[in-house]
Amino acid sequence: MKVTLSVIKADVGSIGGHTRPSARMLESVRARLADAIHGRLVLDGLVTHTGDDIAIITSHTRGVGAREVHRFAWESFLAATDEARAAGLYGAGQDLLVDAPSGNVRGAGPAVAEIEVERDPASRDRPAEAFLVFAGDKCSPGAYNYPLYAVFCDPMHNGGLLLSPKLRRGFTLTIVDMDHRGDAADRVIALDVPERVWDAACLLQNPDRFAIEAIHSRLKPDEQIAAVSATRLHNIAGTYTGKDDPVALVRTQGIFPAPEEVIEPYTLGHFVTGDCRGSHVMPLMPVPIGAAVAGPYCLPVVSCLAFSMAADGRFSAEYVDVFGDRAWDATRLKVQQKADEWRRQGFVGPTMASHAELAYTGLVDALAALDREFALRPER
Ligand code: MG
Ligand code: MG
Repeated sequence: MKVTLSVIKADVGSIGGHTRPSARMLESVRARLADAIHGRLVLDGLVTHTGDDIAIITSHTRGVGAREVHRFAWESFLAATDEARAAGLYGAGQDLLVDAPSGNVRGAGPAVAEIEVERDPASRDRPAEAFLVFAGDKCSPGAYNYPLYAVFCDPMHNGGLLLSPKLRRGFTLTIVDMDHRGDAADRVIALDVPERVWDAACLLQNPDRFAIEAIHSRLKPDEQIAAVSATRLHNIAGTYTGKDDPVALVRTQGIFPAPEEVIEPYTLGHFVTGDCRGSHVMPLMPVPIGAAVAGPYCLPVVSCLAFSMAADGRFSAEYVDVFGDRAWDATRLKVQQKADEWRRQGFVGPTMASHAELAYTGLVDALAALDREFALRPER
């Protein structure tokens, strides 16, 4: 049976700032999901939140980009928006950028990561299906560039690239140019690694513009391993409307990297663009699922859940909250200390986002006004 995993998330309001959605918002989405499961729109599903973003994680047989699944997610976010608005919450409906999405919600505001898998317990390569769902808040889609590169391109991080003959066949990275706009097509490049790992690095160096969108196995080219929501809200809305807060799906085990390999790079607390006003650079903090963002300067956060999926597409009965484990406490402390030290530099230089990112903020107007005051001083 072909089963599609869909992760669709949006920020449609939060309590007292960009912290977390309310219980009533989550209840309204969960009630709709229960109806969708009961009505057989989807096979199974789970509603979670990471910071102020609500994620709807489902399995179904309707394929990637399925109109009816996306419409269900959109309408669920609208219902949560109504709850947010009624309670006077901050940013009600923030990520719903169009009146009604045409078909699927990609490009309409919500973040989407989807993979279709062949779920066959008799399969030689994948008798079991294990996968991770990452959800980032206060950060941009390039946030996954470093960890995915480390796992799929660098044996210093992933010894499995040396140890497993299946992994040694390499991977195809699909990298999207997030600055491209003007027509309906996406601008993408597919790079086979390890042969083109330095070419991949040249692009991934700039996570504001280039993001890994998909990773496929080269052993089994039909098998997609990873999917990342790689769209920029400011390119859709034309102005700053909140950070993109990407989700990622990564299948693990068997012919793919193991989950412990996929999560290893998150011990670094790598610097990402996002945070307060989406305009700063701060280290990414791994957090338990359901955490509010309550630290100074909206430290960017990421959650990670591990699932298994049964032959009938069910997966939600039990899961492991990977970053909720005590093993990550030391990382959290280190990342907060790193952030505190970094914040001492205030606004100067690299602590703020690149000028390409700041072009969507009020800084542009201030600089334009100052520019008119500049004068050329003749050489004496
Ligand atoms: Mg928000
Ligand atoms: Mg958010």
